[in-house]
Amino acid sequence: VLAAVAVLFAGLAVFLSHQMSSKAMIPVKRSFARQREFVADASHELRTPLSVLLSSVDALEMEGVGEGEPFARKVLHNMRDEAKRMIRLSDSLLTLARSDSGAATLRITDFDLGAVAERIADSLRPMAVSKEITLRYERTGPLPYCGDSERLSQLLVILLDNAIKYTPDGGLIELSVFQMEVKGQKLVIEVRDTGIGIKPEDRERIFERFYREEKSRARELGGHGLGLSIAKWIVEAHGGTIEVTSTSGEGSIFRVELPNLR
Ligand code: ADP
Repeated sequence: VLAAVAVLFAGLAVFLSHQMSSKAMIPVKRSFARQREFVADASHELRTPLSVLLSSVDALEMEGVGEGEPFARKVLHNMRDEAKRMIRLSDSLLTLARSDSGAATLRITDFDLGAVAERIADSLRPMAVSKEITLRYERTGPLPYCGDSERLSQLLVILLDNAIKYTPDGGLIELSVFQMEVKGQKLVIEVRDTGIGIKPEDRERIFERFYREEKSRARELGGHGLGLSIAKWIVEAHGGTIEVTSTSGEGSIFRVELPNLR
């Protein structure tokens, strides 16, 4: 009898826990989905008024508003910077909300990753030069890769933009992209800088959303703490890995390994 009662209780416990977890899971899952939808819709809706704000500032400046008036020019300048910052923020939130919901899919094509890296390095070099930073990239023949070239361009922009932001004037940034001879072959992207470096306790956390080592400094530099979480998503969507090694005060190395998707 005891054994029969024990079996009955065990059965009842399994049945109840199943009922409770399935009932609890559905609303939780649904509310997460709603939250993602809300973030995606809100960021999408914010983009239009922000773009209007940005082009209105451009129009005012083209009309010569603020000429000879340093205060008015400064106000317009701040408005442009903040509008751009918010557009970047809403784009990043949209990307992350889509990646969470699985709505962001990769557009896979065959392309030369070396050529993409060269284009991105060339486009960011003026920003480096404005801080007297040398941005070096030496292309060594074609590096055929099969993946999402737009997303990988975004990844390179994030890593190089950070390297420029967190490297003091006169520093050096080296980008290298090369093939690693392993089974199945991998492409490696490395960004080395002679910047401020990242403290050991922050190294894991910098890939988290909104994590910034020093909030005030990162904000001053235009950051939201979302770049590296987007970078991580892009790399993992390609089945790859991203890691950082760094020495405080000396510099950092971000290394991405990408398996060939063919
Ligand atoms: P942010 O927009 O603040 O740059 P990220 O997600 O791209 O956000 O980076 C998160 C944090 O990681 C930054 O705020 C900064 O503290 C640190 N970080 C990223 N890249 C570097 C780098 N190359 N050198 C030093 N610190 C870095």
